[in-house]
Amino acid sequence: MKSPKTVFLLGAGGMGMAPLALYLNGAGIRVEAFDDHFVEPVRTQLLESGVEVIDEPLPRNPPDCVIRSSAIDKESEYLKPFLKRRVPIFRRGDFVARFTAHRKVLAVVGSHGKTTTAGMLVWALEEIGHPVSYLVGGRFEKDTILPGQFIRDSWVVLEVDESDGSIDGFSPSVTLALNSDWDHVDQYSAGESFEETLKNLFTRTSHEIVVPRKSKLQEIAESIGPDSVTCFYPRSEESADFLSTNQAAAFAAGKSMGFDLSEVDFNLFPGMKRRQSVLFESESRIVMEDYAHHPTEVRSFLSQRRILQPEHFLRVIFQPHRFSRTEKLAKLFAEELSLADDLYLLPTYGAFEKFDPAGAVEALTGYLAPRLRKETVVFDDFTDLRSALGSSLESSKKDQIVFVGAGDLERWAHAFAAFEKTNGNKHDAFSCFLADRLSPTTILRANIPLGSKTTMKVGGSARWYAEPAHSEDLRMLVDACELFGIPRVMMGRGSNLIVPDQGYGGLVLRLKGSFWKEISLRSDNNLIVGAGARLQEICRYACKNGLVGFEFLEGIPGTLGGALRMNAGAMGWETFDLVEWVSFLLPDGSIRKIPGTDLTVGYRYCREAYEGIALRAKLRAEGRSDHRAIRTAIDKLASKRRSTQPRESSAGCIFRNPEETPAGKLIDQLGLKGEREGSAVVSNLHANFIVNEGGATAEEVISLIKRVRERVRETRGLLLEPEVGILGKDWNEYLS
Ligand code: FAD
Repeated sequence: MKSPKTVFLLGAGGMGMAPLALYLNGAGIRVEAFDDHFVEPVRTQLLESGVEVIDEPLPRNPPDCVIRSSAIDKESEYLKPFLKRRVPIFRRGDFVARFTAHRKVLAVVGSHGKTTTAGMLVWALEEIGHPVSYLVGGRFEKDTILPGQFIRDSWVVLEVDESDGSIDGFSPSVTLALNSDWDHVDQYSAGESFEETLKNLFTRTSHEIVVPRKSKLQEIAESIGPDSVTCFYPRSEESADFLSTNQAAAFAAGKSMGFDLSEVDFNLFPGMKRRQSVLFESESRIVMEDYAHHPTEVRSFLSQRRILQPEHFLRVIFQPHRFSRTEKLAKLFAEELSLADDLYLLPTYGAFEKFDPAGAVEALTGYLAPRLRKETVVFDDFTDLRSALGSSLESSKKDQIVFVGAGDLERWAHAFAAFEKTNGNKHDAFSCFLADRLSPTTILRANIPLGSKTTMKVGGSARWYAEPAHSEDLRMLVDACELFGIPRVMMGRGSNLIVPDQGYGGLVLRLKGSFWKEISLRSDNNLIVGAGARLQEICRYACKNGLVGFEFLEGIPGTLGGALRMNAGAMGWETFDLVEWVSFLLPDGSIRKIPGTDLTVGYRYCREAYEGIALRAKLRAEGRSDHRAIRTAIDKLASKRRSTQPRESSAGCIFRNPEETPAGKLIDQLGLKGEREGSAVVSNLHANFIVNEGGATAEEVISLIKRVRERVRETRGLLLEPEVGILGKDWNEYLS
C-alpha cells in the first residue's frame, strides 16, 4: 500500500483508533481525528502528539483516505461526503493490515488477555532498551506510556481484533495466540469458526506461532507446521493466576522476536487500566474494577478474588457488554457470576449494537443460582446502587466490591471509589472523581466569587466554578454533577443575571476558552460561532466580512450562549432570526445539532437552551453589503443605545415588556426613576434598568425589584415578570 500523506480518522476516541492516530502521526502522516465522544486523557495525548483533533466530522485538509472505527457504520452520514468524492474508506483493521504488510509484525490474538499481554510485551522491550512500534487496545496505568507508537525499522507489535473479521487480512511474521474461546457471536457462528480463523492466520504466519502448551491452539498450530511452533506454559485452571500466563506469553513472544526478556522484572509492569485495578482499599473494603466481559474472564477474575481475599464477602456489580453476546452466553455468564456472594446488575451496554430485548441483562437472571436469583436487582441509577452497597464506614463485615464489565460502569466504579476515599463527602468525592478526568487546560476551582463575573456586580461565591476547555470536558463535568448530586448552572457573560448574596451551592459553568470563542466564515455566507463568543465580536466580524443582519448585536453585552437561551433581541431583531442550527448538549448526555426551524423559541426564551446547553451555532447572514455601510448602521444603533441606556453596572432590562406598554415606560410614568435601595437605583435614563452605583448587594437589588413590581401592580393592576435571571434560583422564591 502506498503510504497516504493525510488521513482522516472517524471515531478516533476509542481504544482501537486513538493508538492508530498516534502511530500514523509518528510515521509522519498528517492525521485529523474526529469523535463525538472523546475522553481524557486520550484527547490531550493525541493533541500533544501532534494529531489534529477536530470538532466536526469534516477534515480541514482533503484526506488521501478515511479510516473508520467499527463504531461507525458503513452507511453512516459521516461517510457520505467522502463516498461522493471517491475518497478511499477503510475499516480500521483492514487499513492496519495493509499498512503494516511489509513490516515485521508480531500479532497478539485470542479471546482474552490480548491488551495486557501486548502491553506487557512492549513495556518489557522498552525496559531492555529495544522500543518497538505498537498498537495496543487499552490505556496503560501510567498515562506517560502511550497506547500507540511508531519507531522506524522496528518490529510492530499489534493487538489484532477478531471482532469484525478484519483479522483475515493479516499475515504476520509471528503470531502469539492466547486462547480461543467463543466470543463475538455476531461474527463467529460457533467456537469452531473462530478456531478456523486462527488456523488460517497461522497458515499466513511466516516465521513463528506462539501458543499455550497442551491447548487446542497447540494442536491447530502443529497441524500446520510443527517446526515453527513455540509453546508457553499457561496457568492451571485452578491457580487463577492469569497474570503469570500473560507474562509467560510475553516472554515467549519476545524470544521469537529475537529478544531475551529474562532480566525483566515483570512485577514492575504498571498494568493496563481497568484490568484488576484497585480503586480503593481500606482494612475492611477493597473496591476494584475489571474489564472482564466474557464468561471465562469473569470466572478467572472472580475465582482469583476468592483465592486472594477468602475472608472478604464478594460483591459483584456486573454490566454485560453487547446484546448479541449477552443473549448467546447468558447461561454461562450466570453460572460464573454465581461465584458472587451478592450480585448487582446494570443494563446491558450495547456499544454500537441496537437495543435487543433478547440480550438485555435480564436474560441472565433466570440462570443465576437460586440464592442470587431473588435478591439480584438491575440498577439504572448510581445513587440507588451506592445506597445498596453502603459505605465501608457502616459495614460490619469485610468485603470486596468488584465492578466487572466492558461498558460504561467504569464511571460508577470510579464514582463509588471516590465516595469511599472521601468518607462520603459529596463535594470532596466530586473533585476526587474529576481529578484525572479533565484536560489540563480545563479550570475547576472551589469557592469562586461571582459578582465580578457579572455586569451587575453583586452576589456571593460559587461552591464550584469551571471553565471546560472543550465539549468533552463540559460533558464530563455535567456527568459528574449528575453522579454526585451537585446542581449546576450555566453562566455566559453574566449580563442578564443577578447572583444572590449567598452565592450558589453547586457548579457554575462558563464557556470561556478559545474552543468556545470560534467565529469562522463558511463559504455560503454563514458563520459558525461558539457559544462563548461575545455578541459584539460576532457583530464586528460580520461587519468586517460584509455580512448584513448582525448589526443589532453590537450593544448587547452577552455571549452567544446567553443570547440563544434568552433569544436576545434589540431594535426589532432577535437572535433566532439569524439561526440556521444550534448544537446542544442535551440532558441525556448526547450532543445534537438542531435546525432553527425545529426549536421552540419565543420572546426571550428558547426551550432547548433552557433544558440543555448551547455549544455552537450556524448563523445566517441576511445578505452582503459593503462593510462601510454596515459600520454606519451599527454606529447609528450604538448612538441610539448610548443616549437611552445607562453606562453604570446593570443587568440590562429588569422586566419583560408587557404587551400593552413597555415596562420602562410604565415605571417611568409612576415616577419611579431614581428610586433606590442602598446603592441599587432605578436608572434615570431608562426606568427598566436598575444600576449598581457601587457596593450594592443582591438583596438591595432584589428588594428594589420587588418594590417597583408592587407599585406597578397597585397602580396599574399589571404584574411585571422579570426578564433578568437570578442565578440558580426561581423568581417565585422571591416574588410570591
Ligand atoms: P448570562 O447573563 O450569563 O446568562 C443568561 C442565561 O443564559 C442564564 O439563564 C444562563 O444560565 C443561560 N446560559 C448562558 N450560557 C448558556 C449556554 N451556553 N447554553 C444554555 N444556557 C446558557 N438583552 C437583550 O435581549 N437585548 C438588549 O438590547 C440588551 N441590552 C443589554 C444592555 C446592557 C447594558 C446589559 C447589561 C444587558 C443587556 N441585555 C440585553 C441582557 C443580556 O445582555 C442578554 O440577555 C444576553 O444575551 C445575555 O448573555 P450572557 O452571555 O451575559 O448570559
